[in-house]
Amino acid sequence: MKIAFFSTKPYDKDFFERYNTIHQFNFYEVALNEQSVRLAEGVDVVCVFVNDKLNAQVIDSLQKLGVQLIALRCAGFNNVDLVAAKNADMRVVRVPAYSPYAVAEHALALIMALNRKTHKAYNRVREGNFSLEKLTGFDLYHKTVGVVGTGKIGGVFARIMSGLGCKILAYDKFQDETLIKAGVSYVSFEELLVQSDIISLHCPLTADTRHLINAQALAQMKKGVMLINTSRGALIDTQAVVEALKNKTVGYLGIDVYEQEENIFFNDLSEEILQDDTLARLMTFPNVLITSHQGFLTEEALTQIAITTLQNISDFADKKLLINEVK
Ligand code: NAD
Repeated sequence: MKIAFFSTKPYDKDFFERYNTIHQFNFYEVALNEQSVRLAEGVDVVCVFVNDKLNAQVIDSLQKLGVQLIALRCAGFNNVDLVAAKNADMRVVRVPAYSPYAVAEHALALIMALNRKTHKAYNRVREGNFSLEKLTGFDLYHKTVGVVGTGKIGGVFARIMSGLGCKILAYDKFQDETLIKAGVSYVSFEELLVQSDIISLHCPLTADTRHLINAQALAQMKKGVMLINTSRGALIDTQAVVEALKNKTVGYLGIDVYEQEENIFFNDLSEEILQDDTLARLMTFPNVLITSHQGFLTEEALTQIAITTLQNISDFADKKLLINEVK
């Protein structure tokens, strides 16, 4: 199959070329959108990532160009208009699972760094400042951690935090019996908000979960709570969280995803003027740690993403059952 990759980074090229034997690749750095869609002319498949925009207009153009398959090289599919894809008779496949450890461990990395201020200590020591002023953290042991969404990533995260001696509260539409056996307590969303010292989001972005963390939810949280989001940016109403940081309801914020991350994350903008005032405001808080959507970025996850995506495409070419189809 001929495949056009959008939003390509060097690591995508590296891993996909390493595991490819039969398909033809065109790699494009630009994101797929209304302007760039013509680059898909003459290919069978578009291979896209989290910030490629597959709205009805783009899907209509893809269909006219003869594209038959949308292969997401990620788990989330909130950026694809599935109704438009169905109407265009275009199949959509994804990588439902690729090292949940990668993202769960990144959530832990954010917690550890925010709590013990490792990022500040690193910079201080490099400048010859060996003072411990304002570096005081807290023991994670016996703290209450609220996990919103206990699927693959949330489940791994709950077990990691349980291993550190934390009490785990969870909220999900479906309860995982193995987690209950491991000591996790399922509670209502409100109880999780009220009881938790640390809240970590691991549910998908849907119409139901957009701005799940809004002003009302923030008002119920413990004063000084640590909020972690490695899932999708729009789970949090960013303006509301800025207010909660200002009034100190939120004591720490660690985010790997941001509502308006498109066109910002994954890019080197160090010589540009940042146009997003909300992100700029977030970057001014001393108790906010932002990473640019790197939760998935481990050798193991990139390997699995390449292998599964190529298998999805080969299965489509061979008219086999698409086990990873999004319907
Ligand atoms: P999953 O499908 O295995 O688990 C999601 C869980 O959320 C399910 O148990 C589901 O029942 C639950 N859920 C759905 N709606 C809910 C709601 N309203 N309230 C509470 N729980 C709800 O998915 P996963 O593989 O664990 O991934 C979780 C999310 O992580 C993905 O949707 C994706 O957005 C994000 N993700 C981020 C990165 C990254 O690099 N930062 C990488 C991969 C995935």
